[in-house]
Amino acid sequence: MQIITTKKELQAIVRACKAEGKTIGLVPTMGALHAGHASLVKRAVEDNNVCFVSVFVNPTQFNNKEDLAKYPRNIQRDAELLQSIGADFVFAPTPEEMYSAEEMNTTFSFDFNGLDQVMEGKMRPGHFNGVVQVVSRLFYLVQPDKAYFGEKDFQQLAIIHHMVEHSSMAGTFGDLQIIDCPIVREESGLALSSRNERLSESEKATAVNISRILFESLKWAKEAAATVDAVQQRVIDAINAIEGLEVEYYEIVDQTTLLPTDTFRHAIGCVTVYCGPVRLIDNIKYEEA
Ligand code: AMP
Repeated sequence: MQIITTKKELQAIVRACKAEGKTIGLVPTMGALHAGHASLVKRAVEDNNVCFVSVFVNPTQFNNKEDLAKYPRNIQRDAELLQSIGADFVFAPTPEEMYSAEEMNTTFSFDFNGLDQVMEGKMRPGHFNGVVQVVSRLFYLVQPDKAYFGEKDFQQLAIIHHMVEHSSMAGTFGDLQIIDCPIVREESGLALSSRNERLSESEKATAVNISRILFESLKWAKEAAATVDAVQQRVIDAINAIEGLEVEYYEIVDQTTLLPTDTFRHAIGCVTVYCGPVRLIDNIKYEEA
């Protein structure tokens, strides 16, 4: 496995892979890797001749400087994990290598048909513009055949599908296929997240209630006369009733439009919860209930 830190070196390696007719899989990450990331990488290794993983804490997608500063980083441990599961190349640039000073400070604005205006987009203005800025740059540099993203960040995945398939950028990435990967959870049900590293043991025990309540809500949705609004509110109330948890939003929306829905068919509930100072996200699909 080779660690690359410059765009120039990356592009030379990509050119060589393409010249040899190799298929390329890409897994974009912000590091502090865990079994959730590993599931994406294993799939990319299986599906492609070469697997590139980017490890880059993208400053332009953080609207909160403190969150950016506190984001866990451990490239050495990440590299060991990636080597052990068969990744071929790790791209780990500095922010200065990735962006010019102008790019770092310009507010980009992409149009995603409203997908970026709800939930995370509403709470974290500019967040998805930063995500699209970095992901589109990675697609341009790595020219992957397939790129792998987790359903844990469901809204991000919807926006990336939109970018590649429907936006003004559609077609600019060749035949790139976006591969959706299921959420990996601890045995307790807690969705794996790099941010879990910031939880104390007792906060972690409290955080387990988030997924427990989401899974319980699948049963609530099947009760006679259950409505989307009522289940949505019941989830919010149940989570808020746990000491140490505070819901920022819980919205049951259509999986495609991310707009409010009045049916559980093709619906997904997306939650953001503060567990102490740590902001956690999770989601649950009702159609699978
Ligand atoms: P991040 O490093 O948080 O930007 O995540 C990199 C990729 O890993 C994203 O596509 C995430 O959706 C995905 N990911 C993060 N946590 C999980 C998880 N628990 N299960 C599956 N995928 C995940």
